[in-house]
Amino acid sequence: MTDVDRTHGGAHPATDARPGRPAAPPAGPGSAEDVARAAAAASDLAELDAVVPTCRACPRLVEWRETVAATKRAAFRDDVYWARPVPGFGDPAARVLVVGLAPAAHGANRTGRMFTGDRSGDFLFAAMHRTGFASQATSVRADDGLVLSDVRITAPVRCAPPANAPTPQERRTCGPYLGREVELVEPRVILVLGGFGWQAVLSTLDEQGWDVPRPRPRFGHGAEVRLRRGDASVVLLGCFHVSQQNTFTGRLTPEMLDTVLLRARTLAQPSEG
Ligand code: SF4
Repeated sequence: MTDVDRTHGGAHPATDARPGRPAAPPAGPGSAEDVARAAAAASDLAELDAVVPTCRACPRLVEWRETVAATKRAAFRDDVYWARPVPGFGDPAARVLVVGLAPAAHGANRTGRMFTGDRSGDFLFAAMHRTGFASQATSVRADDGLVLSDVRITAPVRCAPPANAPTPQERRTCGPYLGREVELVEPRVILVLGGFGWQAVLSTLDEQGWDVPRPRPRFGHGAEVRLRRGDASVVLLGCFHVSQQNTFTGRLTPEMLDTVLLRARTLAQPSEG
């Protein structure tokens, strides 16, 4: 695997129409069963990333993502919001998969790229740049040239939810996309931002036959759990979410995030595990 192979820029899989919202995609999955079928049918990440933005399986989230896009925030009144599900983003050969919660209403739901265009993303990508995972410290638009190396970023729920709170049903409905992404990426480390993602990833790995302990390992900042399936192993690494609620209060500092990212890099080495 060359360094070139391991890098991946910000081109959006569902459109070549940027800037601005792309032409309407073909009708996509409209039910939980459709999601499961579509995710299973994706033979590679490009196919998965192409189908995700077409999804309309969660009526509440479809309505919310489109309402937010119509009403907008004053600072973004001239922007054309993405207003669709947001696919994963980053290096297709990543050894580290970062799992958040869901797109932010005026962040990824506006720009169409994970953690792009909001304060949470500013915090995350600055740390990724300091630790060598990102080519630049900012993430403003999907066409800003940001390239990630050895890391891919995704979420258990792909549509912006009201109050950043998806329902358990919405998480289950969206789950096959995360499951397929984990299968296709085959990460050595899954760095999970927050307790919601932690539970979602454990459910996914449990369904896939990994040896998830009972009771399930608790989420915590710096929590580390190695899971095995046959000869394969993966490490779950916990980190407080990069939400403003955590970063503005100092619950999560830049130093804390840097430490976790560097730990992820160490754990991703072939000699580990
Ligand atoms: S949350 Fe997931 S399953 Fe629900 S509509 Fe969005 S992409 Fe589809």
